[in-house]
Amino acid sequence: MNYYSTNRRAAEASLKEAVVRGLAPDRGLYMPGRIERLPESFFREMPGLSFVQIACRVAEAFFGEDVDADALQRIVTDTLSFDAPVVRVEDRVWSLELFHGPTLAFKDVGGRFMARMLSYFLGRGGDRVTVLVATSGDTGSAVANGFLDVEGIDVVVLYPKGKVSEIQEKQFTTLGRNITALEIDGTFDDCQRLVKAAFMDRELGERLSLTSANSINVARFLPQAFYYFNAYARLREAGLSGPIVVSVPSGNFGNLTAGLFAKRMGLPVKRFIAANNRNDIFYHYLQTGNYEPRPSVATIANAMDVGDPSNFARILDLYGRSLEAIRADISAARYDDEQICRAIAETLERTGYLLDPHGACGYLALCEGLREDETGVFLETAHPAKFRDRVEPVIGRSIEIPARLAEFMRGKKLSVELPADFETFKKYLIGESDI
Ligand SMILES: *Cc1c(COP(=O)(O)O)cnc(C)c1O
Repeated sequence: MNYYSTNRRAAEASLKEAVVRGLAPDRGLYMPGRIERLPESFFREMPGLSFVQIACRVAEAFFGEDVDADALQRIVTDTLSFDAPVVRVEDRVWSLELFHGPTLAFKDVGGRFMARMLSYFLGRGGDRVTVLVATSGDTGSAVANGFLDVEGIDVVVLYPKGKVSEIQEKQFTTLGRNITALEIDGTFDDCQRLVKAAFMDRELGERLSLTSANSINVARFLPQAFYYFNAYARLREAGLSGPIVVSVPSGNFGNLTAGLFAKRMGLPVKRFIAANNRNDIFYHYLQTGNYEPRPSVATIANAMDVGDPSNFARILDLYGRSLEAIRADISAARYDDEQICRAIAETLERTGYLLDPHGACGYLALCEGLREDETGVFLETAHPAKFRDRVEPVIGRSIEIPARLAEFMRGKKLSVELPADFETFKKYLIGESDI
């Protein structure tokens, strides 16, 4: 299958080209040339199938033409070495828990899948590739851990100094080996800008083979559709038959867009809710029809502190740039830190379920927007222990740290500090920097 750019000024690419490049040469995002509608029979049979079985079928629809069937099955199976259960929180409200992977956030799915896919393609070519990734918190750890010790690949993680939690930071700065962490004196948007500039720089392009592991990469972004299908299967298995609404805590909008793809493939989700924190660019877009990116502001749900969400271009493209069509499938809500904290405390008190700050946005948006006949699922995108510094004071007790998280905390931070300046970053990448 070919992939086209959302800007439509670059030639179509093969899957391998799209995965290796990340961003299209015209700065657009790659889109699959076709979105296969899965047969009714699949949706009927799904409740009896496992997460991996469901994911294999979905993966085949996207990648089946370009990756050997055995290899694809192995990539999916290796990626999903953990579950994504749907847990009942209260009447009609369910949590799709996406924090059971190695770094305790949903990005493990895309990060692990992409690492395996890239290694599959490179294994045949023998080139060395540098993966650049800007992170607002959780991408860096998922990608770094997904790629750790993968042959032929170097990973450079850029993150904003002082703007990620200590636990997040430890998960990608302590690894060493083929992973380098750059602590940028700036915001997440600065990090994202540096990464984009690197792809546009001719000299860098000649000296290094660069790719991105942000949610712009199709190999990271599309596999996120897997767990939407799984959630549907598990809810049907639990005997729920009404319309399903999915609420997605959103920053760069990769996760939500993957859900929209699932719907386009026939998954019976009635509608989606995009839950924002104070970085509410998408909320405003739905209100006014104007997309007005703004510098991001720091919030307690820091992995959603994005002022110019990359995947907005994909949403526009998917809906033929029609605001009306977008509004028919997606509504939006936004919450400030105070509302998020209150929701965490009250939900724990009332239901016994502990939300993380991102999941709390999804939960609030769902509870506010759910109608009588609907069943709602919100994506619990990270484990609350990743944000314990902020969550513990809110709930007034300590959170138990899962063992795999405690392990990271014992490591030593090995970051390199850089200013948010492209020339310095470029020199560092080509090894001419004295930093
Ligand atoms: C990355 C992230 C988000 C936002 O996901 P997008 O795909 O960028 O919209 C939400 N919650 C957590 C915990 C994250 O790590």
